[in-house]
Formats: sequence, structure tokens, C-alpha cells
Amino acid sequence: MRVFNFAAGPAALPLEVLEQARNELIDWNGSGMSVMEVSHRSKAFVAAAEQAHHDLRELLAVPGNYKILFLQGGATGQFAFIPMNLARPESSADYLITGQWSKKAVGEARRYCKANVAADAGANYSTVPVQSALQFTDGAAYVHYTPNETIGGVEFNYVPQTGGVPLVADFSSTILSRPIDVSKFGLIYAGAQKNIGPSGLVVVIVRDDLIGKARPGTPSVFDYKAMADDNSMLNTPPTFSWYMAGLVFQWLKRQGGLAAIGDRNRLKAKKLYAAIDASTFYANPVEKQSRSWMNVPFTLAKPDLEKAFLQGAAKAGLTNLEGHRSVGGMRASIYNAMPSAGIDALISYMKEFERTNV
Ligand SMILES: *Cc1c(COP(=O)(O)O)cnc(C)c1O
Repeated sequence: MRVFNFAAGPAALPLEVLEQARNELIDWNGSGMSVMEVSHRSKAFVAAAEQAHHDLRELLAVPGNYKILFLQGGATGQFAFIPMNLARPESSADYLITGQWSKKAVGEARRYCKANVAADAGANYSTVPVQSALQFTDGAAYVHYTPNETIGGVEFNYVPQTGGVPLVADFSSTILSRPIDVSKFGLIYAGAQKNIGPSGLVVVIVRDDLIGKARPGTPSVFDYKAMADDNSMLNTPPTFSWYMAGLVFQWLKRQGGLAAIGDRNRLKAKKLYAAIDASTFYANPVEKQSRSWMNVPFTLAKPDLEKAFLQGAAKAGLTNLEGHRSVGGMRASIYNAMPSAGIDALISYMKEFERTNV
């Protein structure tokens, strides 16, 4: 039986996509082989990879002067590969800190360049800094931020203005959740396992002028130019993850694209926050204007009931609601693949749990 899976990542995939993958698992495209068993250089795989690339470009309306790369090493790999590709050891780079992922990103960047904190929202990371609070460094190679902090459930409701300095964004947990204006960014990256497909793949969308500047010593597979020149196939890519991402992109197009999925996501989040706000038993710690559409943390007025809450939820087919191990509480991750019915089921369970426990 399928459950409503609220995991933060690896996260739920659309059932339709899983069914399609299952149906063609052992005989893909009439080849008599699984997609996992064919050469990444074969005509059929190259065509599927190109289709995925094309569909992603169309979904996000990626302008022609950006390359889309399908890489490995996760979003965490990019924490290092970004400074290796965009900065020299003596360069400065600015980081906006709004939670644990942006902290990790600046920590890793410090190994490769002079990474400065241009803003730190602090105070338990329940909000984002306003534009006027951002203190940029003159001559910084880039500005990095995390539009959606997956653990804290904190999201920027604006795109920072950097005065022409390339803006680099870790979109891991919010990519494809709604339309964005790619032209405002120098580089966008996202680990696949939240809103794109299975883990093993990280998507990088990078403006042409930022390609070809990797410092000496950068491994070729992490050099944006080397990978762009070879259509992300300098070596064997994570073929199955790429194929699955392609199925997800097609599913998104069938949903009506990002405007349509964005409307659905906004309503899903609105409903869940409204239920939390209407109750005195549940609370969300994030300032209203910075609340994430994708990751909704919440606490119980009686923390000793958390275990019972989670056990009852699992029984009701609502899984992976425990908060990140570092913060505790609950967290419902409600990415594209979470249907509205999952939100409704969670809300009714929460109401029933509250009714029987206060
Ligand atoms: C999950 C996540 C990461 C880490 O991704 P990996 O693929 O495990 O390296 C980084 N940043 C954000 C915002 C995330 O949600």
C-alpha cells in the first residue's frame, strides 16, 4: 500500500512516474534491456537525456545563454565546486546565512576562497534578512544564498539584488515548485532527491559567462566547462536518475507546468499553515512572510506526545513526519509529488490527535 510520504529527501515521487518506470523497467523502449543496462552513449539514451534537458529548459524557461548540467556529488558537492569554478583562493564570495544548509555552504567555501557572511538571520533561523540588511563585499566573485532552507522551513519571499554580482542559489528543496526568473541568477543548483527525481544527480543551471573560469587543479568532472562541452557526459552520468528526472519533467508538463503546480503548492501550504495557526496545540516557528511552501515544521504543545503523534500518523499512512534530527519537532515536506489529498489526510489526523489529547 502506498503511504503519504512527508520525507524531506529522498522524497516522494509522483505515483504515475513510478508506475511508468516499473512498466518499462526490464524492457525500456523495446530494447529488451533496462534503461540501467544501456550505454549512456547509445542513441536511445542520448535522446532520452536530451529530451530531459529540453523539458527542464522549457519548464523553467531557461534563457539560451545558460547551460544545464546533470552532475554528481549532490548539492553538497556544489558547496565546493562553486568556489572552485567561480573564485580563486584570494577571491571573496558573500554568503547569506538563513539556516543549516547555507551554514554548511559557507563552511565548505571557506576551504577554497575568502567566504564572507553578508547577512546572518540568526535567532533560531525563523526569518530571512531584508534586502537593506545585506552587507556585500566589494569585488566579491559571487553572492550565495539558499532560497529555501529545508530543515528550518524558511524561505526567501524575494530574490536578493546584488548589483551585478552573480547570484548563486541552492534551490535543492524548492526548484520546480513554481516559476522563477532564471535570468536573475548566475547559477542555480539543486540536488535531485527533493523535487526532481532519485538521488545521485544534481542539476546545475549556469550562465555562459561563468563557465570556463575553474581554478587550476579542478577535477574535470567538476569543471563546468568540461562538463558543458561534453553535454554532461564526460564520463558515465547517473543514467537511471537522469532518466527518472526526465519522467518527472514530463509529468510536470502534464500537470500544466510550473504555473499550475505553483498554484497547487501555494494552496497546499496555505491549508496546512492555516490548520496549524488555527490550533493552540500546534505551532510553526517561522515568521509568516518567510514560511516555506515545501517544508513545514511544526511543534506540539506537549512535546512528550511526539512519539505517540508519529506512531499514530504512521498507522494512518502518514510517514516521515519527524523533524530533522538537529531540531526535533515535526516537519511535513510537501513537494510537488505530495497530492492535496495528502495534506487533507494530515490535517484531519492532526485535528483528531489534538481532540483526543488535550
Ligand atoms: C538536501 C539539501 C542539500 C544536500 O543535498 P545532498 O544532495 O545530500 O548533498 C543541500 N542544500 C539544501 C537546501 C538541501 O535541501
